[in-house]
This record gives sequence, structure tokens and C-alpha cells, in this order.
Amino acid sequence: MNTYDFVVVGGGSAGSVLASRLSEHPDATVLLIEAGPAHGPERTTVPAAWRSLVGTDADWGHSTVPQTGLNGRTIAYPRGRLLGGSSGINAMMHLRGHRAAIDLWEKEGAEGWGFDDLLPYYRRTEHTEGRDTAVRGTDGPMRPRPAAPPHPAAQACFEAFRTRGFPVADDLNAPEAEGVTWTELTVVDGARQSAADAYLRPFLDRGNLTVVTEAVAQSLVFSGNRCTGVRYLRDGVPLIARADVEVILSAGAVGSPHLMMLSGLGPAAHLRGHGIDVVADLPGVGANLSDHPLGLAFFSAGRDMPTGQNNHIEVVGVTRTDPSLAYPDVQLFFMDVALALPGGQGYALGFSATAPHSRGSVTLLSADPSVAPAIDPGLLSDERDLETMLTALLMARDINSAAPMDPWRGQEAIPGRSLDDPGRLRTFLRERGATTYFHPVGTCRMGSAETAVTDTRLRVHGVEGLRVVDASVMPSIPAANPNPTVLAVAERAAEMIRAQHG
Ligand SMILES: Cc1cc2nc3c(=O)[nH]c(=O)nc-3n(C[C@H](O)[C@H](O)[C@H](O)COP(=O)(O)OP(=O)(O)OC[C@H]3O[C@@H](n4cnc5c(N)ncnc54)[C@H](O)[C@@H]3O)c2cc1C
Repeated sequence: MNTYDFVVVGGGSAGSVLASRLSEHPDATVLLIEAGPAHGPERTTVPAAWRSLVGTDADWGHSTVPQTGLNGRTIAYPRGRLLGGSSGINAMMHLRGHRAAIDLWEKEGAEGWGFDDLLPYYRRTEHTEGRDTAVRGTDGPMRPRPAAPPHPAAQACFEAFRTRGFPVADDLNAPEAEGVTWTELTVVDGARQSAADAYLRPFLDRGNLTVVTEAVAQSLVFSGNRCTGVRYLRDGVPLIARADVEVILSAGAVGSPHLMMLSGLGPAAHLRGHGIDVVADLPGVGANLSDHPLGLAFFSAGRDMPTGQNNHIEVVGVTRTDPSLAYPDVQLFFMDVALALPGGQGYALGFSATAPHSRGSVTLLSADPSVAPAIDPGLLSDERDLETMLTALLMARDINSAAPMDPWRGQEAIPGRSLDDPGRLRTFLRERGATTYFHPVGTCRMGSAETAVTDTRLRVHGVEGLRVVDASVMPSIPAANPNPTVLAVAERAAEMIRAQHG
């Protein structure tokens, strides 16, 4: 049988939620098509090893086009390629970010998608303990917990944040929380918990759920303007899966717009330029790419650094560069390894602009599905983001200079104290200091804006039978690492789909 009620493309964070929730209904048949394998390398489960997964077969291995804001540099742009998707290779940090960043979605045309609308679905995703149950979930599949046991240098840095005026946030996932906290990690019994681990693997024996891995979707099938299925390749064999009810694209902020354009959904002139017949002229497909820039300042340690027991990022703080801002625009974290120094010896302070103004795009390079699209996150293309990153770098230095860090502090290796004036630090950020924080969103935005790709029920404009549900539908980026918000969006979408089709 190759006909199902629902065909979900992409078994990442969102796709895992959808396939799981839609197949809870025993009468609904669900096919999930995932390009990568069911499992990554053995160390996929080891929290401390996450960074080493980048560039392996569990990563699509994308890179960007030359970044004008990064002095023309081309940077690696990792995306998970395994069941669990990017949640299978990510850093496991579980942070929703400030409510005001989600409330912005409504102002950007996504009516009914303010923070309070999303709150029940954030709660539905998670099982927390000892938190305020009005805002945190208690019976969902994801089990975020504060990093433990703490690294002693992280403990010192936590105190350094406090010394520099960061209040202690008991729960940085509370809607308006600010300050410093122990990072919540989706780690269970010492092992990574990806969206697939939480949502899919326990239910793989459901008779109405079919999961096909190492199957790469090539394009969508249309009958008139109705999407009726998906063409995919498995072991080199072309196959078609038919959807009686809906196809749901959850291929991520790079994969979803790519597949749409290959299938004739996108900016008409761009598609025709690649010889693709236009099914629906949707100028917003691939536009509005938003990502967080990331910077790291590396320090040698004044004493031996014990090996971190968690994901190396145990302490995180958020703050504002200007008190009049609606929400924190800087995230800072302590890292108990110095990846850029010999043997990783030392530590780092990471910093990110969490309300970036820069926007980029995903566009076609070819009509051949095996050719990756051009990815331009536009990092630091807006000068305001550069200024925020500069302020954040100075904050990181300041935290490192606080007394609690005295026992651990060695020398600042990168950028190095010789770079001390703002002009040289800006150049440092552009030339080598800033990169991606791996958080692309927004390339198939929902809502009523001219460039909206879906409506607020995530149905693609101009066609029938097709939804997009993943990071690409966000009108703008959450003020934190996006995975919890992707999961919440997918929970809500599953409920909308069930409500529409019974
Ligand atoms: C290295 C790294 C670290 C990160 N750290 C964090 C973190 O600590 N905390 C956090 O909140 N966020 C983090 N993120 C971001 C977060 O993981 C993503 O925002 C989130 O997983 C995106 O979910 P998604 O469902 O939109 O896409 P994905 O999870 O990327 O899922 C897309 C899926 O679709 C599949 N796919 C794509 N194209 C096709 C095709 N043609 N055919 C079949 N399948 C296809 C992919 O293989 C993938 O499995 C990190 C990301 C990376 C890469």
C-alpha cells in the first residue's frame, strides 16, 4: 500500500510531533518520509559529543553563500539528517525565550499566534518537575531538566553573572524571565532526548504509522491545484506516496522551501528561470530567512579544567542592551571547553543577538533535487546586529573579569586583549568572530503579510491539501534557541489538522 491519509515529509522536530500525534487516532493512516537514517552515529546520544556530529552523515553538510556581513566568508550551515532531524544533533538547550518575541508574530500578520495562544502547546510538549504548572507542562513527552552536576567553572561563571547584575532566574522558561540560570537540557538518564526519541520511537509499533527512513522526497505531486502526494527516492528507486487527506511539509527551514520551489510553489520568475512549471506564485517561499548570529570569546584556563558532564553549556543568561527594548536582545552562555584552542583546553563565553534585524533567503541553484539550494542567512547584514554583537562581546569580557572567575581565568586568547577598540572588534566579528547559532526560521512564513506562504492554519496559499509545519512558518525568530517553539507549533498544528478532518 502506498496511499495514506497523511504523508509527512521530514522526521525532524516538527515531523516527529506530527506523525506521533496524527497516528494517535487509530483510524488515520500516516506515512513519515525521512531522508536520513533511523539513528545517527553511536555518540548521537552523548550530550557532550553534540558538536562532533556536525559534518558527519547525520548532517546535511550545507554551507552558506558568501556572507556580505561576515566579510564574504562562507560558513558551514548544519541541519540534522536523521530521524529526529536537527533535534538529533543539536545542543539540547530548552529555552522558549521572552513572550514579547512571540507576541510580535501577531503584529507581523499571524493572527491568533501570540504567546498566550501558544502557551498550552508549549506545556503539552514537556514534562517538568518543580516548576510553576501554570506555565510549564507536567505530562508531555520532552523532559527538560537543569544541567547537573554543574561544572565547577560553570558554577564560578554563574556567580560572575550575578556579580555583574544578572538576577537569578529560577525558571528562564517563564514568559517574562530574564537573568542567569542553569540551562535546561533535553537529556534523560544522561542521554540526548531528540524529538524522535520522545515522540516517535515509543510508538513505532502502531499499525497505522509507517516510518520510512533513507527516503529523500524529490517533489510534490499535484492534481490540478490539489497536492495529492510526494515523489521520493529510496535506494535509488523512484516511488510515489499518495495522500488522501493532506501532505504536510516538515523538512525544516531549508528543506521545506527547497521542496516547494522544486514543486512549482514559489516566486514565479525564479521558478521559470530554472525551467520549473509554476503551480502557485508565492513570492515569500524562501524569503525572510532569519537566524541568530553567534560569537565566542575563548580563554585559556588558570587551572586544569575538569571534563564537562553535560552539553558543555550549563549556564545561560539573557539581558537587554537597552532597557527600553520589548525583550532581551542578548543571550550569553558559559562553555566549559575552548574548541578553538589546542586540545580544547580552556573555556569560552558565547554571545548571541537574539532579536536580529538581518534577513536572508533560500533560493534554487538548480531544478535538480540533489543540488542543495543557495542558503543566505544574511548574518550581520544589518548594522544593528553588529552593534548588538559588539555590546554582547564586551558583556562577555566583563563577566569573565568578575571576581568569581579569578581561580579559573587565564588569558583571553580570542579575540585577545590587543583587540580593544570598537572598530577592531567590529572587524574581528565580521572577519572571524561571528557565525551561525544554527537557528534558521521564517522561510515559509504564515499569516496575512504579502509574503505569507501559509494561512494561520498553516495551509499553503493558492493550493489545496498541503500544509507546512516546522521552523519555516515562524514570521520571525523566537528570542531563544528555537526547538521548544518548533515543537509547540507542531503540537498546535496537529490539533488543527485533527479538528479539520476529524
Ligand atoms: C548543531 C545545532 C545545534 C542546535 N542547538 C539547539 C539547541 O540547543 N536548542 C534549540 O532549541 N535549538 C537548537 N538548534 C535548532 C533546532 O534543533 C531546530 O530549530 C529544530 O530542530 C528545527 O526543527 P524542524 O522540524 O523545523 O527541522 P529539522 O529538525 O531540521 O527537521 C527537518 C527534517 O526533514 C528532513 N528532510 C529535509 N529534506 C528532506 C527531503 N527532501 N526528504 C525527506 N526528508 C527531508 C531532514 O533530514 C530532517 O530530519 C540547533 C540546531 C543545530 C543544527
